[in-house]
Amino acid sequence: MKAKMLGRAAGLFVAAMLSLSAAGGAAEHAKVDASRLLKAEKEPHNWMTHGGTYAEAHYSPLAQINTTNIANLKLAWYADFDTNRGQQATPLVVDGVMYTSTSWSKVYAYDAATGKELWRFDPKVPGTIAKSVCCDLVNRGVAAWNGKIYVGTLDGRLIALDAATGKEVWSVVTVDQSKPYSITGAPRAFKGKVIIGNSGSEYGVRGYVTAYDAETGKLAWRFYITPNPDNKPDGAASDKIHMEKGYFTWGDGAWKQTGGGGTAWDAIVYDPDFDQIIVGTGNPNPWSWKARSGNQGDNLFVASMLALDANTGEYRWHYQQTPGDDWDYTSVQPIILSELSINGTKRKVALHAPKNGFFYVVDRKSGKLISAEQFATVNWASGVNIESGRPVVYEQARYGITGGDFLAIPGPFGAHNWHPMAYSPKTNLVYLPVQNIPFGYADDGSFKYQPGHGAWNLGITSKQNAGPQDEPERKIQAMRTEGHLVAWDPVRQAEAWRVNHGGVASAGVLATGGDLVFQGTPDGRFVAYRADTGQKVWSWQGFDGIVAGAMSYAVKGDQYIAVLAGFGGSNALHVPFFMNAKVGKNGRVLVFKLGGSATLPDNTKPVLEAMVAPDKFTDEQVAKGGQLFGNCVFCHGFGMNTNNMVPDLRRSPIPSNRAAFEEIVLKGALESKGMPGWGKTLSPEDSEALRAYIASRARVLQKDLAAEKAVMR
Ligand code: CA
Repeated sequence: MKAKMLGRAAGLFVAAMLSLSAAGGAAEHAKVDASRLLKAEKEPHNWMTHGGTYAEAHYSPLAQINTTNIANLKLAWYADFDTNRGQQATPLVVDGVMYTSTSWSKVYAYDAATGKELWRFDPKVPGTIAKSVCCDLVNRGVAAWNGKIYVGTLDGRLIALDAATGKEVWSVVTVDQSKPYSITGAPRAFKGKVIIGNSGSEYGVRGYVTAYDAETGKLAWRFYITPNPDNKPDGAASDKIHMEKGYFTWGDGAWKQTGGGGTAWDAIVYDPDFDQIIVGTGNPNPWSWKARSGNQGDNLFVASMLALDANTGEYRWHYQQTPGDDWDYTSVQPIILSELSINGTKRKVALHAPKNGFFYVVDRKSGKLISAEQFATVNWASGVNIESGRPVVYEQARYGITGGDFLAIPGPFGAHNWHPMAYSPKTNLVYLPVQNIPFGYADDGSFKYQPGHGAWNLGITSKQNAGPQDEPERKIQAMRTEGHLVAWDPVRQAEAWRVNHGGVASAGVLATGGDLVFQGTPDGRFVAYRADTGQKVWSWQGFDGIVAGAMSYAVKGDQYIAVLAGFGGSNALHVPFFMNAKVGKNGRVLVFKLGGSATLPDNTKPVLEAMVAPDKFTDEQVAKGGQLFGNCVFCHGFGMNTNNMVPDLRRSPIPSNRAAFEEIVLKGALESKGMPGWGKTLSPEDSEALRAYIASRARVLQKDLAAEKAVMR
């Protein structure tokens, strides 16, 4: 211990000498190391890792801003990003400098007290990657270690930046870029390594996590979440467990072609108590258990919490929350490390509320389930058997066995998604963003794997889902959709209080030592609640929808609350009834303090009229275009409502001009902006059918607008 402390002192001395000898004597940036991160709670003015500390509780002990003075919380500064897509990152602040990623995997650094931009970095992600990103071109944050800032990019790179200048130090390609992988999650730094996962389970990839040397980018270890399809070694840390066990939990099916998914795209937590990494793993691919695995096997290690040795990546334990998943129930959702007193015994636990609607308390040493209760409306399972740890699945939920069409809740949007939840040690409550969004599933019976970029490989079909032309169904779905902020007691496994947001989507949460819980809304409000009762105590109205989680820090004695604004993500693009967002958004970081005096300029744009192409189209063209548009909805929105993140095709002049439309749709004229050309799969006749369909939708909008019944439709 003494030697360690001396070593640290010597290290600081050397660092001080280096900084004195440097030209200009510039202050050191992001000088984060193991000892600082392990004791991060001793530096409450900083937020040095994704969830605040290694426990990832999204909790700040700072209490200057509290329930007695919250009325005086005002905007201190803001800064605009150069992108119009969803913003999901939680910024870091280290020693007075804020680092954040934005959509398109860009990174910005600011003076955290003044908002002065220090540098920005653009990894120049090729726009064509948008084809293979399911849920918006987002990024959820950066990591800091020893003077460097790390970001994962949409095209699968992990990049180390000089924290002082934003210049690239090293870059590694972490994926096979010929396959539809992407990265949206935040890297985590621990013990001289940086770990990153990936996404792509909707398209067909094999998920894994990789740890790299933080200084050099050299690969340290990799763990594949699904087995090698030939049960051969990959030369990875996962070989042994998969060849002995994992492989035999899969039946015959399409997983052998698709890779089986399981991508770890959000929670990857370093647990210093047991020197392990706990990974939340993604859904399998294809979604249908029948198509994927012949309705056979649990399919390890998808939809699980998976613990790995932090030094070697070797398997420690797993707890699978949705064995034989049929419903896109990823378990990548944020994981909080805690210690709870359960039945009089202190237990080191992981708290987890994945998509499937159950709140899990899991022992971090053994991986054994302690308790599980549903926190949302759930109709796929009646509960979880505590002894076996397995869900009790309703027969009708197994659509691949019944041959039926199952309207599930939760659906693929999840009862809880990526939105950070928070845990306050003062109230012992978890603050959890909950959403109830149903979705229909039926096995499509004739699944055929389509390799490459841009092709969805889900293996399902259902008449119950909202289609672009299916107005009555959309209304039914809208009626059933709710968002809540729930305060959850993880010991009692029971709700303490709940705020019903009505039909409004979820957003990330921050809890503070000032007994406050902060959460944004998709219609641009930033709201504070009392942590003990849920009483709303403060609300601020901005212009951009807020879905990211907030964070808090202090500089020179002033406490700040920061949050990214910019509506986006799967809810914004795929759920047709989120129509509350303001138009013409631009991503921003908003920073508040007591008595702040900044004013936010209105960045909204006028709502455009519908633009109906003057051409004469046949009903056959419209119908064909409607079918083809099914491939466009993931970016251009169900019902063509995109919340203005991407152009609303019904309001765009382009579809009125055949040549311009073909330049974009077939030849890729807007490829750099994320609209790839589809000339290889679509013919000029298809393009005309799409124009016909867009014109028909624009006509509906025109009528609605005339009737003044659809301002944001
Ligand atoms: Ca998924």
